[in-house]
Amino acid sequence: MNSPPKSGTLFVLSILLFAMAVFAVFAYYYFSTARTVNAIEVLSSPASPASTLAFASPKPLDPLPDPKSITPAPRAQVSSAHPKDLSHGMLSFNFDDGFVSAYNVAFPMLEQAGFASTEYIITRAAIGHSQYMTWQDVFNLAAEGNEIGAHTRTHVQLTTVSLQAAENEILGSKQDLESLGFHITTFAYPQGYFNAGIESIVEQAGFKGARITQPLLNDPSSDLFALKRQRIEMDTTWPEIKTAIDQAIAQHKWVILVMHRIDESSADQVNAPSSLLAQTIDYVKQTGIPVVTNDVGIDVLKSATSAKQ
Ligand SMILES: [Zn+2]
Repeated sequence: MNSPPKSGTLFVLSILLFAMAVFAVFAYYYFSTARTVNAIEVLSSPASPASTLAFASPKPLDPLPDPKSITPAPRAQVSSAHPKDLSHGMLSFNFDDGFVSAYNVAFPMLEQAGFASTEYIITRAAIGHSQYMTWQDVFNLAAEGNEIGAHTRTHVQLTTVSLQAAENEILGSKQDLESLGFHITTFAYPQGYFNAGIESIVEQAGFKGARITQPLLNDPSSDLFALKRQRIEMDTTWPEIKTAIDQAIAQHKWVILVMHRIDESSADQVNAPSSLLAQTIDYVKQTGIPVVTNDVGIDVLKSATSAKQ
């Protein structure tokens, strides 16, 4: 009569152990995700780029264009600065999501100043739609010397989907752009949502670095897969931008300025006036801070890191 209670106890014990293991795994994912999201809620504006567009999901992914059907028609030629170190600081102009107002208003201003920028593209749910650039525009930007970066396939919040779905979004967007002939090295997390698991997917996908939506400056101690930024949005003031640029120069750091829509009539939080960009461009010229693409900026941080060791 001894053995039934024994195996019963063993059974209860193993159920307990299993439950504890499941709880530990859930707790790990919950806290690593929750911590990131809370940090972003505290640090970023109340209406983050989330408000730009809600991509209905699931829905069929947009097909990619036939690159042979596109002939790039560059309007200007720009190139990234290649500073040898951070002694004069560094600045980048980033545009997320591929809004046509950025293409029509912001890029000509930067091109006239000779500044290359980095454009983060959503590959399967935005380009070619109303308010967004066409693939022709994206090819033109690359032909002008701007960097094209990946921003997932559908702009999903990466921490809310399975790791497999996240990989499909991250690696998939890189492969989409590479299949069109673009050289892709950097990534931006949609709305800045990331955690350790998402970061490692980005790293394993072969990117050299990625940008988040937390302020402010980057330096050789920065996590290359969680690069910070200074936003330029509806409620951003000129003193905020000027302070960030001044600090980058004085502290030998890298400031990444991030924009979305420019001069649009929409009341979207991520719409910024071109007057603010014009003021920024003038100040960048005046100070002489090197303007780099994110691709080059990451290389400079890396060489500064290895020089330190
Ligand atoms: Zn975005």
